[in-house]
Amino acid sequence: MTGLRPLLCGVELGGSKCVCLIGTGPDDIGAQVSVPTGSDPSATLGRIEEVLRNWNAVYGPFSAIGLASFGPLDLRKDSPTFGHITSTVKPGWSGTDVVGQLTRHLGVPIGFNTDVNSAALAESRWGLARGLSDFAYITVGTGVGVGLVVGGKPVFGCNHTELGHMRIARRRGDVWPGICRFHGDCVEGLASGPAIAARAGVSAEEIPDDSSVWELVAHALAQLLHTIVLGTAPRCILVGGGVLQARPQILGRVRRLLVESLNGYLDLEDLTGGMDRYVVAPGLGALAGPLGALAIAADAYAEARAAQARVP
Ligand code: ZN
Repeated sequence: MTGLRPLLCGVELGGSKCVCLIGTGPDDIGAQVSVPTGSDPSATLGRIEEVLRNWNAVYGPFSAIGLASFGPLDLRKDSPTFGHITSTVKPGWSGTDVVGQLTRHLGVPIGFNTDVNSAALAESRWGLARGLSDFAYITVGTGVGVGLVVGGKPVFGCNHTELGHMRIARRRGDVWPGICRFHGDCVEGLASGPAIAARAGVSAEEIPDDSSVWELVAHALAQLLHTIVLGTAPRCILVGGGVLQARPQILGRVRRLLVESLNGYLDLEDLTGGMDRYVVAPGLGALAGPLGALAIAADAYAEARAAQARVP
């Protein structure tokens, strides 16, 4: 570790594991610890608190902390349940006060956002989306999430967006009901790791590359991209997550099926400089998620400094 300041701490809460990082950016990571995401949130968060306490003892106080979590989350700063996970598909975690439990003893600026919005911000700070004000970051893993950045910021209205739960046009003849417990055959219900395993009857790792299941997964993702392209005209779409890291060849199918689905309505090749550069793997790879937590810590630190500077 270089000893640079500010000393940022990031915690990415994921569906299967939570990754804690300390450092200032991708080239300066002092420590990284993973904690499995159990079904008892207070036990999982307790283990993370222990990691943070140890780091405080070793490295000194943090300048800011960023919490990037699976959702849905309450991000409304004026809400009594700000910082909580709301009605999540993850059993046991609905109503968990993530910000409250993890930051109660720290007294430092706090960044809090969805895992995908945070990963998108990391890509715009350090990765492939540098200099882009309009792009999408998609992760396909335990769930399907989308960080949609428009005009330089993740889209935010009454709360954050949840495009992974979008309903799509099903592939002709495919009537498998999907596994989302809210929507059945939304994108996450069809293309997440657990959905792929449920459809195939074996874990996603055991499915051969030439199985027809992958074409159906690519179809669901291409439908998601179809709507994102038409809805916000991103300059680039990054598609990562555990499923895509394990089967990067899906990306080629997604590009092809997206073009097929748009059916000549937009000339994406011309608009974007080529599909191979338009729909791509994240620049930060598997670290996009954890670095997202550091990115929102950096933003929280900068905001706090700016607020301090305004005080007469
Ligand atoms: Zn759903």
